[in-house]
Amino acid sequence: MTKEELWQAILAQIQFNTSPANFATWFKNTKILLKQEGKIVISVPNHFSKEWLENKYNKTILKIAHSLNENVKEIKYEVPRTGLEVKKERSRITDHYPDEEQLQFEEFKINKISNLNPRYLFENFVVGPFNELPHAAAWAISKNPGTIYNPLFIYGGVGLGKTHLIQAIGNKTVKNFPDKKTKYITSEKFISGVVSSIKNHSIEEFKNNHRKIDVLIIDDIQFLAGKEKTQEEFFHIFNALYEKNKQIILSSDRPPKAISSLEERLRSRFEGGMIADIGFPDYETRMAILKVKSQEKGINLSNDVLEYISSNIKENIRELEGALNRLIAYQKLNNQIPDCQIAKTLLKNIISGPAKMVSPKKIIQTVAEFYDLKEKDLIAASRKKEIVFPRQIAMYILRESLNYSFPFIGRKFGGKDHTTAIHAFEKISREIKENERLFEEVNLIKHRIYSV
Ligand code: ADP
Ligand code: MG
Repeated sequence: MTKEELWQAILAQIQFNTSPANFATWFKNTKILLKQEGKIVISVPNHFSKEWLENKYNKTILKIAHSLNENVKEIKYEVPRTGLEVKKERSRITDHYPDEEQLQFEEFKINKISNLNPRYLFENFVVGPFNELPHAAAWAISKNPGTIYNPLFIYGGVGLGKTHLIQAIGNKTVKNFPDKKTKYITSEKFISGVVSSIKNHSIEEFKNNHRKIDVLIIDDIQFLAGKEKTQEEFFHIFNALYEKNKQIILSSDRPPKAISSLEERLRSRFEGGMIADIGFPDYETRMAILKVKSQEKGINLSNDVLEYISSNIKENIRELEGALNRLIAYQKLNNQIPDCQIAKTLLKNIISGPAKMVSPKKIIQTVAEFYDLKEKDLIAASRKKEIVFPRQIAMYILRESLNYSFPFIGRKFGGKDHTTAIHAFEKISREIKENERLFEEVNLIKHRIYSV
């Protein structure tokens, strides 16, 4: 079982014993970051979730994990920060911490020299109207690097195939031109390379090594924003390669002009080549992608199920894949291909329904439940601190989300004066700006309100 499958299997079990609201609140955007010697590290989206999972769910998770894999003895929860920070911290803790990319695809061997993942190919990249242009440019470059579009700059939102496409170019040039030196590198790696070689007085060597590359692929270049020294070194490497007609391929989550604090001369370099964006996949392409992926993963789902997924997950191909993985985990665990009904149950937390109208009652109920209080306590006159604060949160959400008038909100809470509601709203609005944890807390509550 891969990490991904193990986590999906654990989630599937938890889901059957947890209310949908709790499940959605605490398990959305979680994944296994690392599995090592009986220890699993789970990535959670924020500190609030971390605490909650540690205190309320750890036993259950550990039990299930252990039943699926006897070796598992310990579970840790971690909030990842920016990739770079996380990496720094990891390398402090242990030198053997694998790379992010390796973590993600440990079942595939990343090539040591090119740093490419052999999984990302043109052959399994589905082309549709939304990515036709970048695909065509990528394909042309793989036939003839360094001559047509230089640099190639591909941008688009998260999970839409940027990394896949630029690595496909790399894998193809390695195959077509075995004598050329192709190298893929993430911006984070590039940045840390510059930083450490400056520290070790080996920046010239670093630059020289990069100048020998024939096809240089740098992913997520937006991370160079604000890194002046790195930008400068990159500029020199870029120029050296460009002048020798070496191919440069870049990806970013936004176009060059939207990358803040990017030096002007770099920006104009980026804009001097071919810029192509990847949009959102249309329905047909989503279906096609699901078919390709389910074939790759060896699961035979009915068309109904595939249609259900493609009609509901529209903006992120990685999420399409996540949905498939969840169904695969179910199949492995139960030895049964999930039908449409089961798929709907398994996926309801990934797939959010249409925007819902919520009532004040629902908000009050959810806030009360969240803080383990009775609804009537929240509404009554108690001035106990444990109650006043949740009440203020409820008032705040009523105002902020539904825009109810202050007198109305006051009335909802046992006929309180409108100034109490105003005070609550202003207090929480202010505190949220200063206190990140409170901000997360309120978001979680809102999430619960809207997720059931
Ligand atoms: P990005 O780098 O834009 O965040 P990725 O390249 O990592 O996105 O893609 C996310 C996942 O979706 C990967 O597993 C990738 O293989 C898959 N994917 C993206 N686009 C396509 C596509 N057009 N055809 C097949 N798979 C795709
Ligand atoms: Mg990417």
